[in-house]
Amino acid sequence: MNLQSPITKGGRSLSMYAYRLEKLEIFTFEDLLFHLPFRYEDYSIISKIGQLQTGETVTIQGKILEIKNQYLRGGRIKTIQKAVVVDDSGSVELVWFNQPFLIKSLIKDSLISASGTVEQSAKTKSIKSPVFETFFGNQKNPIHTGRLIPIYPKTKGITSKWLRRQIYNILDQHENELIEYLPNELIKRNNFMDFKKAIKEVHFPQNLQNAVDARERLGFDELLLIQLASNKRRSNWEKKQKAHQFKILEYKKDIDKLIASLPFSLTSSQTRAIDEILSDLESDKPMNRLLQGDVGSGKTIVGAIAMYIAHLNGFQSVFMAPTEILALQHFKTIKELLSPLGIKVKIVTGSRKLTEDFDIITGTHAILSEKIKINNLGLVIIDEQQRFGVEQRGIVREKGENPHLLTMTATPIPRTVALTMYGDLDLSYLSEMPKNRKTVKTWLVPPEKRDAAYQWIKKQIKETKSQAFIICPFIEQSESMLTVKAASQEYERLKTEVFKDLPSDKQSLKLGLLHGKIKSKEKEKILDKFKKAEYDILVATPVVEVGIDIPNATIIMIEASERFGLAQLHQLRGRVGRGDKQSYCLLFTDNQNAQSSKRLKGMETLYSGAALAELDLKLRGPGNMYGTNQHGVPTLKAASFSDTNLVQKAKYEAEKLFPELSKYPLLFQKIENITIQKVSPD
Ligand code: ADP
Ligand code: MG
Repeated sequence: MNLQSPITKGGRSLSMYAYRLEKLEIFTFEDLLFHLPFRYEDYSIISKIGQLQTGETVTIQGKILEIKNQYLRGGRIKTIQKAVVVDDSGSVELVWFNQPFLIKSLIKDSLISASGTVEQSAKTKSIKSPVFETFFGNQKNPIHTGRLIPIYPKTKGITSKWLRRQIYNILDQHENELIEYLPNELIKRNNFMDFKKAIKEVHFPQNLQNAVDARERLGFDELLLIQLASNKRRSNWEKKQKAHQFKILEYKKDIDKLIASLPFSLTSSQTRAIDEILSDLESDKPMNRLLQGDVGSGKTIVGAIAMYIAHLNGFQSVFMAPTEILALQHFKTIKELLSPLGIKVKIVTGSRKLTEDFDIITGTHAILSEKIKINNLGLVIIDEQQRFGVEQRGIVREKGENPHLLTMTATPIPRTVALTMYGDLDLSYLSEMPKNRKTVKTWLVPPEKRDAAYQWIKKQIKETKSQAFIICPFIEQSESMLTVKAASQEYERLKTEVFKDLPSDKQSLKLGLLHGKIKSKEKEKILDKFKKAEYDILVATPVVEVGIDIPNATIIMIEASERFGLAQLHQLRGRVGRGDKQSYCLLFTDNQNAQSSKRLKGMETLYSGAALAELDLKLRGPGNMYGTNQHGVPTLKAASFSDTNLVQKAKYEAEKLFPELSKYPLLFQKIENITIQKVSPD
């Protein structure tokens, strides 16, 4: 048996919990050692019983002099267990409630160690509901008392006490397998704790400083491994055959002409991103760049210019989007821009087959279908890349020979996270918005103001001749029948009760309904009607989240907003504020818990996706940061992506270490084994 052995191979007391542990992603003994406490209880002061002070939290150790059960009548407390414990300095009473079985396990004359807060009642001192353990056999040290006690995250069916005991045993039996795998100089340079000591101290620290140092070491390792794995992906990518080297200088004039023909001037970050892309395209290594920019920052035009360059160099391009609606929108934008220059732009989706020759295809993952042959693929662009799985991103590249790859996302990944997660990609940021954009006024609406909000929406629509989205709750992750049903019901309710015609009110509001189960042709019709203002209000499931562009819509009302990640709310909010009228976002929630209000309050004051992502990261941690539908963000156990210092340190050390990785076989093995989902295509 070793640390890699599965839990099911452990003793009975361990293996019978295997199923419950699996839910925590704990499969092996080693996994259990990486299940870290989230705080410590300080029971390290061991006091003579005769010197106990009222109010102090201590551990006492002594002999059980007597123990008895008392029965009470009525009330919640049915029985009380009292034990008198003595040492050579005095006696104290330990008191438990409703635990009659203790009488059997705490036997007179056995030794006990108990921790808790001392109280004075009448003449005797007592400790109520103490944490305790008895000493028998050959256990030398207390586990649950008399030291800093690790407290583990609560989980159904698994107590902290149980975890503590198991982890203690594993550490005891497998200590020798905890072998240092980082280079000595690195450890010295950073003043890190040794690996074995770090694992031991993070669970059973000698003092709080050790706990902090241990966590720092383990957090560093975690970030370092992610970073090294991404360095490795990058080097694999670069080892691939040569890329198509595009000529740029020759076509500079054409690009400038296209840019000059736009109805707006580019922001300086758009110009910078384009320059970065052009210099990638010029090089003999295939481009692998992530373009990150907030909703509405103007990524599409950057992609379009890159495709234009590909065309000028005699290559075809693919522009893939996650939904049919979005693909159609891109198709229209790009066609309008590039077809006057003689470029053949086509669209491929589930319901639109490719029939003719093309220079650029826009479309959904239908592009990946085997039937679609691309002879001369030079550039692949993937919009909203976080929506695609790694495999899909890989397949599209395989349609050509080493095409350049540009991925785009509006998901505001904090820089610290991007540095670690996407270390193998080059990053371009669109850090500024086009000029003259108004911020969308955002309010968190309490339940009692719901009716007033409906009245306000009505008035607003009529007075400013604008339109509104009402987003129904997100019931399950995918667009399930349940979500659709809820949306249909809400649509009926809004239509027949809330926005119905009043006798004096001739001009009634027209409502449309959009959800994922509607056929795509029908969907387009509905959106088209909304665009032409034939509907005043579009009631929708969260399908509208990504991409669509209706400049006359100025209000978005979001139900059950606490169920969304901040990034998703920000995406939704990005559906309005696209024209020159003032826009509004109303967030409804019935859930008043402090944390979710804090998150939602953030929406009222923060308008940049990046700032919101940082907040989400702080409040919910990286696992939840983007809400659902996010691929490839691992949950960190010891480190935090918001710890910029440690992230930087890991990045620095990884760069240094990577070229000589083969010198450290244990470390090398760990990187091979790393199971984080790959986030970049290769
Ligand atoms: P996103 O980054 O969310 O994909 P889009 O590319 O859809 O944003 O651009 C949003 C809107 O902003 C489009 O209507 C686009 O024409 C417009 N736009 C893009 N760049 C600029 C700019 N520099 N100045 C003004 N408007 C711009
Ligand atoms: Mg976009």
